[in-house]
Amino acid sequence: MAVNASAHGICRDCLAPAAGTGKRCHSCGSPRVLRHPELEALPLAHIDCDAFYAAVEKRDNPDLRDKPVIIGGGKRGVVSTACYIARIHGVRSAMPMFKALEACPEAIVVKPDMEKYVRVGRQVRAMMEALTPMVEPISIDEAFLDLAGTQKLHGAPPAHVLAAFARRIEEEIGITVSVGLSYCKFLAKVASDLNKPRGFSVIGRAEALDFLAGQPVTTIWGVGKAFAATLERDGVRMIGQLQRMEKNDLMRRYGTIGSRLYHLSRGEDERTVKPRGEAKSVSSETTFNHDISAASDLVPVLRALSERVSARLKKADIAGRTVVLKLKTADFRIRTRNRQLADPTRLADRIFHTGLDMLMRELDGTRFRLLGVGVSDLTDAAKADPPDLVDTLSHKRALAEGAIDSLREKFGREAVETGYTFGRRRAGQPQREE
Ligand SMILES: [Mg+2]
Repeated sequence: MAVNASAHGICRDCLAPAAGTGKRCHSCGSPRVLRHPELEALPLAHIDCDAFYAAVEKRDNPDLRDKPVIIGGGKRGVVSTACYIARIHGVRSAMPMFKALEACPEAIVVKPDMEKYVRVGRQVRAMMEALTPMVEPISIDEAFLDLAGTQKLHGAPPAHVLAAFARRIEEEIGITVSVGLSYCKFLAKVASDLNKPRGFSVIGRAEALDFLAGQPVTTIWGVGKAFAATLERDGVRMIGQLQRMEKNDLMRRYGTIGSRLYHLSRGEDERTVKPRGEAKSVSSETTFNHDISAASDLVPVLRALSERVSARLKKADIAGRTVVLKLKTADFRIRTRNRQLADPTRLADRIFHTGLDMLMRELDGTRFRLLGVGVSDLTDAAKADPPDLVDTLSHKRALAEGAIDSLREKFGREAVETGYTFGRRRAGQPQREE
């Protein structure tokens, strides 16, 4: 614990140490002074770009800067990102575009340019990786960073390094980020959301329990609308109520998620930051009894393999951003093709359709003896498959896939066959997985 709380401060504009208790920075007069008793002791950060796609478009077109901007796919699509001006009018991510335009008729709708966002996202990522090798990306524009043990390298505690980072992103990339700093992933993530945009929030150990007590249960990682409704039926709306419940009771009522509720409600989160590349890929492949060249033979196999890969991703609660297709020709030449997605996926349908697109380009009469598909660039599943921006249908497909998964859970794998695999599993049985 800090001996002298007032000593632990920094100006987020000029980066001068902010001693004392004054509201403004002694050096530059800025009101953006960050103070916290545990400021110099906390190593775990969650960094999230503010309204990322919209911020990139505003950067590239200054005419948009003071206007409400919505990134999304046409009138029938959904909102992918709304800038903060549009949000003031009530526009939200994943809102149907017609509703968004009802709420904010003067909004300017910009079609997403995913390639550009991926490019900018990579620049941001590279700058994070210059701070610490312990960077765990969870989507194109956000990541966890563990800065423990980097104080010597940087000559400053993590909080200072992060404030300098946020300023550099603004200067060099031209967008803004929000930073959450804490001692664990859960609270770092919660903190980064507390005062967006251009936020920097700190949740220390000493305040964790009290802070959480006043938050709704939906603050907890993995508690979505449906589960929150279940808890509500049981009279539980706030995390403070969970803090007063016994672990056994929570587990008896809610199964394994009960244990998560117990620990997270108390600010206990043991998950470590896993840098990208620690786990490499999840894939599944099959060697055919006879070499085959026809789409009608290959496509059902690709579908079955995609489902295998998806099932394993879901089981491990991870997702992959790059879909990899592997083919071995009759004369043993290996062809691998890969494609990066805008967001990580764990859905069989997205893996299949991406793989299918790559497969179709390889079909020129060549006979193949092996087909494989997989995903690499693995991350936590938390940000996988967001309600889609570019393609509204894929959200419906994701929902349908969730329904198929739960049927399979109840009745076994063969209970639900999609059109691609129905009656065709014998074309090639998945053999080797890695
Ligand atoms: Mg973001």
